Amino acid sequence: MKRDQWENAIRENYHAVLERITQAARRAGRSPESVRLIVVTKGQPLFKAEAAVRAGARDLGENYPEEGMEKMLAITRPDVHWHMIGHVQRRKARLVVAHYDMMHSLDSLALAQRLNRLAAEARRMLPVLLEFNVGGESSKFGWPAWDEAQWEALLPDIEGVLACEHLLVQGVMTVPPPVASPEAERPYFQQLRRLRDFLAQRFPKATWDELSMGMSADFEVAVEEGATLVRVGTAILGPRPPK
Ligand SMILES: *Cc1c(COP(=O)(O)O)cnc(C)c1O
Repeated sequence: MKRDQWENAIRENYHAVLERITQAARRAGRSPESVRLIVVTKGQPLFKAEAAVRAGARDLGENYPEEGMEKMLAITRPDVHWHMIGHVQRRKARLVVAHYDMMHSLDSLALAQRLNRLAAEARRMLPVLLEFNVGGESSKFGWPAWDEAQWEALLPDIEGVLACEHLLVQGVMTVPPPVASPEAERPYFQQLRRLRDFLAQRFPKATWDELSMGMSADFEVAVEEGATLVRVGTAILGPRPPK
């Protein structure tokens, strides 16, 4: 497809995904406004990210801090919010604090403490979500949470994150393992929601509103299970070009 064809395709895809979110929310008796669509631009050329913004997208997600910054230099609208959704290495933490609006993929206490120090230096509050691995040992990142018997053991780390005065904990996030059908992801989304409810009960003073879950293949199931942030890439922007 040529660039000008992508412009229209992305506009149509974006609105089709919004419509599917609306329908899924209604099926679950939820307000469609309670779900925010993050367009995942990782690995995609700048013109596609720009087309998504022209179509109406105001939340963009990136996995690598530097790659996102290249796009930020071109897309300077103050009403576009940048979400870090990938694993962040220690030495990249500074970029996240300097340039991103929300960090979905906080996956260790050490990283939390580093982000906290950097956010204090930068005199800002950084909104964060805690990433959990609800799918089992095969998926790489996030605190282990596939077995409810593990949850109690997570609490000291979570308490440590909540003690970080420059991090604003807002909820939880997961990337479940790829499975054969969207329906097969449902138990993982339910597990994350149950974990969220458990944390909200243990730490009632903190905020646990956000559930970041659901991608191109399964966002409707995620919305039915309570997702407030869905992260959709290929269903809107087409396949990511090979690296
Ligand atoms: C790539 C990615 C997405 C989007 O995946 P699609 O299948 O392209 O929708 C969502 N979340 C995370 C964490 C990702 O790495």
